[in-house]
Amino acid sequence: MIPAAQSAQQRAPRPIANLQTSRWQQLWRDAVRDPRELLSMLGLEGMAARISDSAAMQFPLRVPRGFVARMRQGDPHDPLLRQVLPIDDEDRIVEGFTLDAVGDAAARSANGVLQKYQGRALLVATGSCAIHCRYCFRRHFPYSDETAARAGWQEAIATIRNDASVDEVILSGGDPLSLATSKLVELTDALAGVPHIKRLRIHSRLPVVLPERIDAGLLSWLDRLPWPTTLVIHANHTNEFDGSVDAALAQVRKTGITVLNQAVLLRGVNDSVDALAALSERSFAAGALPYYLHQLDRVSATAHFEISDDIAQGLHAALAARLSGYLVPRLVREIAGDPGKRPL
Ligand SMILES: *Cc1c(COP(=O)(O)O)cnc(C)c1O
Ligand code: SF4
Repeated sequence: MIPAAQSAQQRAPRPIANLQTSRWQQLWRDAVRDPRELLSMLGLEGMAARISDSAAMQFPLRVPRGFVARMRQGDPHDPLLRQVLPIDDEDRIVEGFTLDAVGDAAARSANGVLQKYQGRALLVATGSCAIHCRYCFRRHFPYSDETAARAGWQEAIATIRNDASVDEVILSGGDPLSLATSKLVELTDALAGVPHIKRLRIHSRLPVVLPERIDAGLLSWLDRLPWPTTLVIHANHTNEFDGSVDAALAQVRKTGITVLNQAVLLRGVNDSVDALAALSERSFAAGALPYYLHQLDRVSATAHFEISDDIAQGLHAALAARLSGYLVPRLVREIAGDPGKRPL
């Protein structure tokens, strides 16, 4: 029998060290959330009339200050600003743009697990992101009750364990690296007991938008993962890279992890051959091979970012005519019910 004093001690809070806020968590909390503050930081007060308060209510602005520092002063067309500022274009209702454009609701196989494709299980590890991207297909996703973290991983892990066809687990979200490292350790420790898992993949925008996240604790977690692991980062424009991103990715690569970049083709951000070529070259220089160039998911409030398939194919062909083959990402669209991302 456990004496009362001892069981109380077992329930005592963890030591202070575990409760300390890491630097990246402080930076994350310190993100800019007020569209007007963001505009005044950039000397763009005159653009305030374009802000949509209703769009900002539906999906609030959030952007780390280090990412703001990569935006150009006084440029209302800055490609990084356009990705995060809630503007009046979002208020237009456009036919064909819906709440669940990619069929996430139908693909849900358990709390926080999406299984759309052979062999792969995608874990919606958390609903949180360090940045809120206006074009994101998950802006309408019911995160609060759909994340694996909330269900304490149990249900999600049981689903994966009971399905021997799953050989790759994809940590996604939201942004899985917005979870504390201790949570990630907990998750992969539980997955390590599932014999049919052969690969792990992590989809995260944090190495780009908050490279401070790649700290010693995260690196030692990455270093000790028992599977060949791929990190898919997400940058849409060459200006998203800077020395801090280069340094973070170099550290990740030292652990032996493969780093890929995926981007979304976005009007006003990267819809030119020059912008796409610069993105591929810069991302490769940072250690990330181009993986996918996604056509926008037709999600409500994002129509102003759309590029037609014709123009997209033209850009892609011109890119292929200019760059080394391995620098050309695959142009794809996600179609609900398809067996994989559909090449265009
Ligand atoms: C995109 C996606 C994947 C990964 O697809 P790949 O083509 O292997 O990159 C896996 N599961 C879901 C639910 C997805 O949406
Ligand atoms: S899921 Fe990715 S694209 Fe969407 S808001 Fe989060 S970081 Fe941006």
